[in-house]
Amino acid sequence: MVPRVIYGTGSFSQLADILMPRRRHADAPVIYLVDDVFEGKPLMGRIPAIFEDQIILVSAAEEPKTTQVDALVSRIRQTFGTNPTGIVGIGGGSVLDLAKALAVMLNNEGGSADYQGWDLVRHPAVYHVGVPTLSGTGSEVSRTAVLTGPERKLGINSDYSVFDQVVLDPDLTKGVPREQWFYTGMDCFIHCVESLNGTFLNAFSKSYGEMALTLCEEVFLGELPLQEQREKLMMASWHGGMSIAYSQVGVAHALSYGLSYVLGTPHGLGNCLVFRHLSEFYPEGVETFLSMQEKHGISLPEGVCAGLSDEQLETMVSVAMGMEPLWENALGPEWKSTITPERLAGYYQRI
Ligand code: NAD
Ligand code: ZN
Repeated sequence: MVPRVIYGTGSFSQLADILMPRRRHADAPVIYLVDDVFEGKPLMGRIPAIFEDQIILVSAAEEPKTTQVDALVSRIRQTFGTNPTGIVGIGGGSVLDLAKALAVMLNNEGGSADYQGWDLVRHPAVYHVGVPTLSGTGSEVSRTAVLTGPERKLGINSDYSVFDQVVLDPDLTKGVPREQWFYTGMDCFIHCVESLNGTFLNAFSKSYGEMALTLCEEVFLGELPLQEQREKLMMASWHGGMSIAYSQVGVAHALSYGLSYVLGTPHGLGNCLVFRHLSEFYPEGVETFLSMQEKHGISLPEGVCAGLSDEQLETMVSVAMGMEPLWENALGPEWKSTITPERLAGYYQRI
Protein backbone atom coordinates (compact mmCIF):
# COMPACT_ATOMS: atom_id res chain seq x y z
CA MET A 1 0.00 0.00 0.00
CA VAL A 2 1.03 3.61 -0.50
CA PRO A 3 2.45 4.54 2.92
CA ARG A 4 1.80 8.29 2.70
CA VAL A 5 -0.94 10.29 1.05
CA ILE A 6 -2.24 13.81 1.30
CA TYR A 7 -5.59 14.82 -0.11
CA GLY A 8 -7.39 18.07 -0.78
CA THR A 9 -7.91 20.99 -3.09
CA GLY A 10 -4.66 22.94 -3.24
CA SER A 11 -2.64 20.15 -1.58
CA PHE A 12 -0.16 20.24 -4.49
CA SER A 13 1.33 23.31 -2.76
CA GLN A 14 2.67 21.02 -0.02
CA LEU A 15 5.00 19.20 -2.42
CA ALA A 16 8.05 21.33 -1.52
CA ASP A 17 7.60 20.52 2.18
CA ILE A 18 7.14 16.84 1.44
CA LEU A 19 10.35 16.65 -0.58
CA MET A 20 12.60 18.76 1.66
CA PRO A 21 13.41 16.13 4.32
CA ARG A 22 14.20 13.63 1.55
CA ARG A 23 16.89 15.77 -0.05
CA ARG A 24 20.28 14.27 0.78
CA HIS A 25 22.44 16.98 -0.78
CA ALA A 26 22.17 19.69 -3.42
CA ASP A 27 23.68 17.48 -6.14
CA ALA A 28 21.10 14.71 -5.83
CA PRO A 29 18.21 16.28 -7.67
CA VAL A 30 14.53 15.62 -7.77
CA ILE A 31 13.39 14.68 -11.26
CA TYR A 32 9.90 15.79 -12.14
CA LEU A 33 8.30 13.84 -14.98
CA VAL A 34 5.46 16.06 -16.12
CA ASP A 35 2.78 15.46 -18.75
CA ASP A 36 3.56 17.89 -21.56
CA VAL A 37 -0.08 18.94 -21.67
CA PHE A 38 0.96 21.30 -18.83
CA GLU A 39 3.67 23.04 -20.86
CA GLY A 40 3.12 26.80 -20.51
CA LYS A 41 0.34 26.26 -17.95
CA PRO A 42 0.32 27.78 -14.41
CA LEU A 43 1.05 24.35 -12.88
CA MET A 44 4.62 24.51 -14.23
CA GLY A 45 5.28 27.58 -12.08
CA ARG A 46 4.08 25.73 -8.97
CA ILE A 47 6.56 22.85 -9.31
CA PRO A 48 9.07 23.27 -6.46
CA ALA A 49 12.24 22.73 -8.55
CA ILE A 50 15.38 23.93 -6.71
CA PHE A 51 19.15 23.23 -6.85
CA GLU A 52 19.88 20.76 -9.66
CA ASP A 53 16.29 19.53 -9.95
CA GLN A 54 15.09 18.79 -13.45
CA ILE A 55 11.70 18.98 -15.04
CA ILE A 56 11.30 16.51 -17.90
CA LEU A 57 8.21 17.00 -20.00
CA VAL A 58 6.85 13.76 -21.39
CA SER A 59 4.18 13.17 -23.95
CA ALA A 60 1.26 10.92 -23.08
CA ALA A 61 0.21 10.77 -26.74
CA GLU A 62 1.45 7.19 -26.70
CA GLU A 63 1.31 5.00 -23.60
CA PRO A 64 4.64 4.20 -21.92
CA LYS A 65 7.09 1.82 -23.51
CA THR A 66 10.00 -0.15 -22.08
CA THR A 67 12.31 1.62 -24.55
CA GLN A 68 11.18 5.00 -23.21
CA VAL A 69 11.90 3.95 -19.62
CA ASP A 70 15.35 2.61 -20.58
CA ALA A 71 16.18 5.84 -22.43
CA LEU A 72 15.20 7.93 -19.40
CA VAL A 73 17.33 5.76 -17.11
CA SER A 74 20.42 6.25 -19.32
CA ARG A 75 19.76 9.96 -19.65
CA ILE A 76 19.57 10.41 -15.86
CA ARG A 77 22.60 8.21 -15.20
CA GLN A 78 24.66 10.08 -17.79
CA THR A 79 23.60 13.52 -16.61
CA PHE A 80 24.03 13.04 -12.87
CA GLY A 81 26.23 9.98 -12.36
CA THR A 82 24.37 9.43 -9.10
CA ASN A 83 20.85 8.43 -8.26
CA PRO A 84 18.42 11.30 -7.82
CA THR A 85 16.77 12.06 -4.50
CA GLY A 86 13.48 11.11 -6.00
CA ILE A 87 11.17 10.93 -8.98
CA VAL A 88 7.90 12.85 -9.02
CA GLY A 89 5.36 11.86 -11.67
CA ILE A 90 2.74 14.50 -12.49
CA GLY A 91 0.11 13.39 -14.98
CA GLY A 92 -2.39 10.69 -15.89
CA GLY A 93 -1.83 6.94 -15.71
CA SER A 94 0.80 7.08 -18.47
CA VAL A 95 3.10 9.50 -16.66
CA LEU A 96 2.49 7.86 -13.28
CA ASP A 97 3.45 4.44 -14.69
CA LEU A 98 6.50 5.93 -16.35
CA ALA A 99 7.58 7.47 -13.04
CA LYS A 100 7.08 4.18 -11.19
CA ALA A 101 9.03 2.20 -13.79
CA LEU A 102 11.83 4.78 -13.88
CA ALA A 103 12.18 4.73 -10.08
CA VAL A 104 12.40 0.93 -10.12
CA MET A 105 14.89 0.78 -12.98
CA LEU A 106 17.27 3.36 -11.50
CA ASN A 107 18.03 0.81 -8.76
CA ASN A 108 17.90 -2.39 -10.81
CA GLU A 109 20.11 -3.76 -13.55
CA GLY A 110 19.20 -4.62 -17.11
CA GLY A 111 16.30 -3.35 -19.19
CA SER A 112 12.76 -2.71 -18.03
CA ALA A 113 11.37 -5.46 -20.30
CA ASP A 114 13.19 -7.98 -18.05
CA TYR A 115 10.88 -7.00 -15.21
CA GLN A 116 7.52 -7.15 -16.99
CA GLY A 117 5.68 -9.77 -15.02
CA TRP A 118 4.99 -10.53 -11.39
CA ASP A 119 7.52 -9.97 -8.57
CA LEU A 120 10.67 -9.96 -10.66
CA VAL A 121 12.21 -6.78 -9.18
CA ARG A 122 15.05 -7.46 -6.74
CA HIS A 123 16.00 -4.07 -5.28
CA PRO A 124 13.81 -1.32 -3.82
CA ALA A 125 13.09 1.63 -6.11
CA VAL A 126 14.34 5.19 -5.75
CA TYR A 127 11.93 7.32 -3.63
CA HIS A 128 8.98 8.21 -5.86
CA VAL A 129 5.93 10.42 -5.58
CA GLY A 130 2.75 10.28 -7.66
CA VAL A 131 0.59 13.30 -8.44
CA PRO A 132 -2.42 12.30 -10.56
CA THR A 133 -3.96 14.87 -12.89
CA LEU A 134 -6.55 12.53 -14.41
CA SER A 135 -8.73 10.17 -12.36
CA GLY A 136 -9.54 6.56 -13.07
CA THR A 137 -6.62 4.24 -13.68
CA GLY A 138 -5.78 3.76 -10.00
CA SER A 139 -2.12 3.82 -10.99
CA GLU A 140 -1.53 6.21 -8.09
CA VAL A 141 -2.23 3.38 -5.69
CA SER A 142 -1.43 0.18 -7.58
CA ARG A 143 1.68 -2.03 -7.52
CA THR A 144 2.02 -2.10 -11.27
CA ALA A 145 3.65 0.11 -13.89
CA VAL A 146 2.12 -0.91 -17.20
CA LEU A 147 4.53 -0.85 -20.14
CA THR A 148 4.44 -1.89 -23.76
CA GLY A 149 7.54 -3.96 -24.40
CA PRO A 150 9.01 -5.80 -27.36
CA GLU A 151 6.84 -8.85 -26.71
CA ARG A 152 3.84 -7.72 -24.73
CA LYS A 153 2.01 -5.01 -22.87
CA LEU A 154 2.43 -6.00 -19.25
CA GLY A 155 3.16 -4.27 -15.98
CA ILE A 156 6.14 -4.32 -13.68
CA ASN A 157 4.06 -5.80 -10.86
CA SER A 158 6.06 -5.41 -7.69
CA ASP A 159 5.79 -4.07 -4.16
CA TYR A 160 8.68 -1.80 -5.16
CA SER A 161 6.61 -0.14 -7.90
CA VAL A 162 4.21 1.35 -5.34
CA PHE A 163 4.61 5.11 -4.78
CA ASP A 164 6.18 6.19 -1.47
CA GLN A 165 3.94 9.24 -1.40
CA VAL A 166 0.86 10.36 -3.30
CA VAL A 167 -0.58 13.86 -3.54
CA LEU A 168 -4.28 13.87 -4.39
CA ASP A 169 -5.37 17.35 -5.43
CA PRO A 170 -8.71 17.18 -7.30
CA ASP A 171 -8.12 20.65 -8.78
CA LEU A 172 -5.33 19.25 -10.96
CA THR A 173 -7.92 17.34 -12.98
CA LYS A 174 -9.60 20.57 -14.14
CA GLY A 175 -9.33 20.91 -17.90
CA VAL A 176 -9.33 17.20 -18.80
CA PRO A 177 -11.16 16.91 -22.14
CA ARG A 178 -14.63 15.44 -21.79
CA GLU A 179 -14.05 12.24 -23.79
CA GLN A 180 -10.83 11.54 -21.91
CA TRP A 181 -12.60 12.15 -18.59
CA PHE A 182 -15.18 9.55 -19.61
CA TYR A 183 -12.74 6.92 -20.94
CA THR A 184 -10.40 7.07 -17.94
CA GLY A 185 -13.37 7.26 -15.55
CA MET A 186 -14.78 4.14 -17.19
CA ASP A 187 -11.44 2.42 -16.62
CA CYS A 188 -12.21 2.82 -12.92
CA PHE A 189 -15.79 1.65 -13.34
CA ILE A 190 -14.59 -1.43 -15.24
CA HIS A 191 -11.95 -2.18 -12.57
CA CYS A 192 -14.79 -2.36 -10.05
CA VAL A 193 -17.05 -4.52 -12.17
CA GLU A 194 -14.24 -6.95 -12.98
CA SER A 195 -13.02 -7.11 -9.41
CA LEU A 196 -16.49 -7.49 -7.87
CA ASN A 197 -17.45 -10.23 -10.35
CA GLY A 198 -14.17 -12.11 -10.17
CA THR A 199 -13.34 -15.39 -8.48
CA PHE A 200 -10.43 -13.78 -6.60
CA LEU A 201 -12.80 -11.49 -4.72
CA ASN A 202 -12.35 -11.24 -0.96
CA ALA A 203 -13.66 -8.91 1.76
CA PHE A 204 -10.74 -6.50 1.29
CA SER A 205 -11.31 -6.05 -2.46
CA LYS A 206 -15.06 -6.06 -2.10
CA SER A 207 -15.14 -3.21 0.39
CA TYR A 208 -12.99 -0.98 -1.83
CA GLY A 209 -14.72 -2.13 -5.04
CA GLU A 210 -18.20 -1.37 -3.72
CA MET A 211 -17.16 2.07 -2.54
CA ALA A 212 -15.56 2.87 -5.91
CA LEU A 213 -18.62 1.62 -7.78
CA THR A 214 -20.94 3.80 -5.70
CA LEU A 215 -18.74 6.83 -6.32
CA CYS A 216 -18.62 6.12 -10.08
CA GLU A 217 -22.39 5.88 -10.20
CA GLU A 218 -22.74 9.20 -8.36
CA VAL A 219 -20.26 10.85 -10.73
CA PHE A 220 -21.51 9.42 -14.02
CA LEU A 221 -25.23 8.99 -13.35
CA GLY A 222 -25.88 11.70 -10.75
CA GLU A 223 -26.10 15.49 -11.00
CA LEU A 224 -23.15 16.61 -8.91
CA PRO A 225 -21.54 20.05 -9.01
CA LEU A 226 -18.22 19.89 -10.93
CA GLN A 227 -16.03 20.34 -7.86
CA GLU A 228 -17.70 17.39 -6.11
CA GLN A 229 -17.49 15.34 -9.30
CA ARG A 230 -13.72 15.86 -9.42
CA GLU A 231 -13.32 15.01 -5.75
CA LYS A 232 -15.42 11.88 -5.93
CA LEU A 233 -13.84 10.56 -9.13
CA MET A 234 -10.38 10.98 -7.61
CA MET A 235 -11.43 8.88 -4.63
CA ALA A 236 -13.21 6.36 -6.88
CA SER A 237 -9.94 5.89 -8.75
CA TRP A 238 -8.11 5.31 -5.47
CA HIS A 239 -10.64 2.78 -4.18
CA GLY A 240 -10.87 1.03 -7.56
CA GLY A 241 -7.09 0.63 -7.57
CA MET A 242 -7.15 -0.70 -4.00
CA SER A 243 -9.84 -3.16 -4.98
CA ILE A 244 -7.81 -4.71 -7.78
CA ALA A 245 -4.65 -4.63 -5.68
CA TYR A 246 -6.01 -7.63 -3.80
CA SER A 247 -7.95 -9.25 -6.64
CA GLN A 248 -7.54 -8.81 -10.40
CA VAL A 249 -9.17 -7.29 -13.43
CA GLY A 250 -10.92 -9.52 -15.96
CA VAL A 251 -12.19 -10.09 -19.48
CA ALA A 252 -12.35 -6.46 -20.65
CA HIS A 253 -8.78 -5.77 -19.61
CA ALA A 254 -7.45 -8.97 -21.20
CA LEU A 255 -9.08 -8.01 -24.52
CA SER A 256 -8.14 -4.37 -24.19
CA TYR A 257 -4.47 -5.26 -23.74
CA GLY A 258 -4.54 -7.12 -27.10
CA LEU A 259 -6.15 -4.12 -28.76
CA SER A 260 -3.57 -1.66 -27.43
CA TYR A 261 -0.64 -3.94 -28.18
CA VAL A 262 -1.50 -4.19 -31.87
CA LEU A 263 -3.27 -0.89 -32.58
CA GLY A 264 -1.92 1.36 -29.84
CA THR A 265 -5.49 2.00 -28.65
CA PRO A 266 -5.35 4.00 -25.39
CA HIS A 267 -6.23 1.95 -22.32
CA GLY A 268 -9.45 3.71 -21.25
CA LEU A 269 -10.85 3.87 -24.78
CA GLY A 270 -9.86 0.23 -25.42
CA ASN A 271 -11.72 -0.85 -22.29
CA CYS A 272 -14.85 1.01 -23.40
CA LEU A 273 -14.63 -0.49 -26.90
CA VAL A 274 -14.57 -4.05 -25.61
CA PHE A 275 -16.67 -3.73 -22.46
CA ARG A 276 -19.92 -2.86 -24.24
CA HIS A 277 -19.78 -6.28 -25.99
CA LEU A 278 -19.28 -8.26 -22.81
CA SER A 279 -22.81 -8.65 -21.45
CA GLU A 280 -22.31 -12.44 -21.42
CA PHE A 281 -19.80 -11.91 -18.63
CA TYR A 282 -20.95 -8.70 -16.96
CA PRO A 283 -24.67 -8.16 -17.76
CA GLU A 284 -25.43 -5.54 -15.10
CA GLY A 285 -22.13 -3.73 -15.56
CA VAL A 286 -22.64 -3.41 -19.31
CA GLU A 287 -26.16 -2.08 -18.83
CA THR A 288 -24.93 0.59 -16.41
CA PHE A 289 -22.03 1.43 -18.74
CA LEU A 290 -24.44 1.99 -21.65
CA SER A 291 -26.59 4.33 -19.53
CA MET A 292 -23.51 6.32 -18.53
CA GLN A 293 -22.39 6.53 -22.15
CA GLU A 294 -25.80 7.72 -23.22
CA LYS A 295 -26.11 10.27 -20.41
CA HIS A 296 -22.83 11.88 -21.44
CA GLY A 297 -23.43 11.62 -25.19
CA ILE A 298 -20.19 9.74 -25.81
CA SER A 299 -19.98 8.04 -29.18
CA LEU A 300 -17.38 5.33 -29.60
CA PRO A 301 -15.60 4.53 -32.86
CA GLU A 302 -16.90 1.55 -34.85
CA GLY A 303 -15.11 -0.92 -37.11
CA VAL A 304 -11.86 -0.53 -35.18
CA CYS A 305 -10.72 -4.06 -36.05
CA ALA A 306 -12.22 -4.15 -39.54
CA GLY A 307 -8.98 -3.68 -41.45
CA LEU A 308 -6.82 -6.09 -39.44
CA SER A 309 -4.66 -8.65 -41.22
CA ASP A 310 -4.91 -12.30 -40.07
CA GLU A 311 -1.52 -11.94 -38.48
CA GLN A 312 -2.53 -8.86 -36.50
CA LEU A 313 -5.70 -10.55 -35.31
CA GLU A 314 -3.68 -13.58 -34.26
CA THR A 315 -1.27 -11.41 -32.27
CA MET A 316 -4.19 -9.62 -30.61
CA VAL A 317 -5.75 -12.91 -29.60
CA SER A 318 -2.48 -14.32 -28.33
CA VAL A 319 -1.73 -11.19 -26.21
CA ALA A 320 -5.23 -11.42 -24.71
CA MET A 321 -4.98 -15.20 -24.09
CA GLY A 322 -1.62 -14.63 -22.41
CA MET A 323 -3.21 -12.61 -19.59
CA GLU A 324 -3.75 -15.78 -17.56
CA PRO A 325 -4.36 -14.28 -14.09
CA LEU A 326 -7.07 -12.05 -15.58
CA TRP A 327 -8.91 -14.97 -17.15
CA GLU A 328 -8.54 -17.04 -14.05
CA ASN A 329 -10.00 -14.24 -11.96
CA ALA A 330 -12.88 -13.78 -14.40
CA LEU A 331 -13.77 -17.42 -14.95
CA GLY A 332 -11.92 -19.64 -12.51
CA PRO A 333 -9.06 -22.10 -13.01
CA GLU A 334 -10.86 -23.98 -15.80
CA TRP A 335 -11.11 -20.87 -18.01
CA LYS A 336 -9.31 -22.56 -20.91
CA SER A 337 -12.27 -24.87 -21.44
CA THR A 338 -14.47 -21.95 -22.56
CA ILE A 339 -12.05 -19.29 -23.80
CA THR A 340 -10.71 -20.26 -27.21
CA PRO A 341 -8.76 -18.21 -29.77
CA GLU A 342 -11.76 -18.38 -32.13
CA ARG A 343 -14.08 -16.96 -29.50
CA LEU A 344 -11.72 -14.09 -28.76
CA ALA A 345 -11.28 -13.35 -32.48
CA GLY A 346 -15.09 -13.12 -32.65
CA TYR A 347 -15.13 -10.38 -29.98
CA TYR A 348 -12.44 -8.39 -31.78
CA GLN A 349 -14.31 -8.65 -35.07
CA ARG A 350 -17.32 -7.00 -33.44
CA ILE A 351 -15.32 -3.99 -32.27
P1 NAD B 1 -3.03 9.21 -19.99
O1 NAD B 1 -2.14 9.41 -18.84
O2 NAD B 1 -2.53 8.38 -21.12
O3 NAD B 1 -3.52 10.63 -20.52
C1 NAD B 1 -4.52 10.73 -21.51
C2 NAD B 1 -4.57 12.15 -22.06
O4 NAD B 1 -5.04 13.04 -21.06
C3 NAD B 1 -3.20 12.66 -22.48
O5 NAD B 1 -3.34 13.37 -23.66
C4 NAD B 1 -2.81 13.59 -21.35
O6 NAD B 1 -1.92 14.58 -21.78
C5 NAD B 1 -4.15 14.16 -20.96
N1 NAD B 1 -4.23 14.72 -19.61
C6 NAD B 1 -3.83 14.19 -18.43
N2 NAD B 1 -4.12 15.03 -17.40
C7 NAD B 1 -4.72 16.11 -17.94
C8 NAD B 1 -5.26 17.33 -17.41
N3 NAD B 1 -5.30 17.58 -16.09
N4 NAD B 1 -5.76 18.23 -18.29
C9 NAD B 1 -5.78 17.99 -19.61
N5 NAD B 1 -5.32 16.86 -20.17
C10 NAD B 1 -4.79 15.93 -19.34
O7 NAD B 1 -4.44 8.58 -19.55
P2 NAD B 1 -4.88 7.58 -18.40
O8 NAD B 1 -6.13 6.98 -18.87
O9 NAD B 1 -4.87 8.25 -17.08
O10 NAD B 1 -3.72 6.52 -18.35
C11 NAD B 1 -3.63 5.46 -19.27
C12 NAD B 1 -2.41 4.66 -18.93
O11 NAD B 1 -2.54 4.13 -17.60
C13 NAD B 1 -2.21 3.46 -19.82
O12 NAD B 1 -0.84 3.38 -20.18
C14 NAD B 1 -2.59 2.29 -18.99
O13 NAD B 1 -1.91 1.11 -19.35
C15 NAD B 1 -2.21 2.76 -17.62
N6 NAD B 1 -2.91 2.11 -16.52
C16 NAD B 1 -2.20 1.82 -15.43
C17 NAD B 1 -2.78 1.21 -14.35
C18 NAD B 1 -1.94 0.88 -13.16
O14 NAD B 1 -2.44 0.33 -12.19
N7 NAD B 1 -0.67 1.17 -13.18
C19 NAD B 1 -4.13 0.91 -14.35
C20 NAD B 1 -4.87 1.26 -15.48
C21 NAD B 1 -4.26 1.87 -16.56
ZN1 ZN C 1 -7.53 -0.44 -16.32
